[in-house]
Amino acid sequence: TSHFTNLPQIPTDEPFAVNGSYIKDTHPKKVNLGIGVYRTNKGDPWPLRVVEDAEKAIYNAQDISRHEYLSIQGDREFLRLAADLVFDFDSTQSCAGTTHSSLGRVTSIQTVSGTGANRLGAEFLTRNISPRNVWIPAPTWANHHTIWDLAGVPRKEYPYYNNATGEFNYEETLQTLRTSSSKNDILVLHACAHNPTGADPSREQWEGILDLCKEKGLIPFFDLAYQGFASGDVGKDGWAIRRFFEEGGIEFVVAQSFSKNFGLYGQRVGALHVVSSSSAAQGVSEDILATLCHLVRGEYSMAPRGGAEIVRRVLGNKELRARWAEDLDTMSTRILSMRKALFEELVALGTPGDWGHVVKQDGLANNDLVNESNVRYVAMAIDDVVRTVS
Ligand code: PLP
Repeated sequence: TSHFTNLPQIPTDEPFAVNGSYIKDTHPKKVNLGIGVYRTNKGDPWPLRVVEDAEKAIYNAQDISRHEYLSIQGDREFLRLAADLVFDFDSTQSCAGTTHSSLGRVTSIQTVSGTGANRLGAEFLTRNISPRNVWIPAPTWANHHTIWDLAGVPRKEYPYYNNATGEFNYEETLQTLRTSSSKNDILVLHACAHNPTGADPSREQWEGILDLCKEKGLIPFFDLAYQGFASGDVGKDGWAIRRFFEEGGIEFVVAQSFSKNFGLYGQRVGALHVVSSSSAAQGVSEDILATLCHLVRGEYSMAPRGGAEIVRRVLGNKELRARWAEDLDTMSTRILSMRKALFEELVALGTPGDWGHVVKQDGLANNDLVNESNVRYVAMAIDDVVRTVS
């Protein structure tokens, strides 16, 4: 007998389960549309060129401290640069006068990538704010369900996606939250390139969401997994967060991932940023950091250092940063061109339905593994399924 014979049945994690089936499948024309990773036109992984150069520089420097422990908070220079990428301190007014993000309104800690940032943020808020509910978009990145279930906060969904239009369902989302949410509830928002729909709120709609958060006393929780990946422009993709930050009075958190925009998936590079209101800033930052460090210390002591060092080198160097922008452009341009090619194939096949959303939406979800040689085949498969079900 074993202590473990009566373990609860755990639902399978869909993206990883689909990936497992894909690997086992021997069909010569198999295409995996399930997992969110960037691939080249040949279907291969693509280490960013700037990342490869930063890796070589790290290796050549032979720094004898390179395998030492980080502090619990993580690599502080990495965190300063990571926070600046999100909030753009030079141009967002409410941070004027602060030289280091953790001295101002933003308290940052390094995490085990975006998932770890989501998890730590959930744990931090649950323990300290006691939200009655967490509101997550329907549909959403499946791990949001797991993360908030583990935190023990009841999950509620807001009707994010309008199937008929292929757009963000603004009116119904606001209506649902206005009537059913309570003060201190958490509102999970995808900052850009909503996964899995690729449909984002317009700037005007973000203003409406911001007003609603203020009116109802909600705590926005931005999941930022695709900054620079959606549009190729980190400023555009970070716009909503910067807007909320400028507002001053509203407190929120940001879970930042460098998996996609640096192609550092398995290195687990990320950060959690907790933003306090401008009136409270100086008073609470130290306590927030101490609380976050306590949670991290008890979980894994500190996040890994290797990937963060790569990001620090790139973001901290003007020339490398400009080259990173070129790499982002390469990736986002290829994704957009594949969306266009898929759209054109579907139109050429006369597949029933309106496929305009394929080009209107952005981001990686389900489009990264389409390439020039399989786009027609993918379109035909979609056509086949659509005709069978309709
Ligand atoms: N959030 C969203 C919406 C995502 O799509 C992903 C990855 O697919 C993540 C967070 C976290 O990814 P990672 O933990 O690899 O940074």
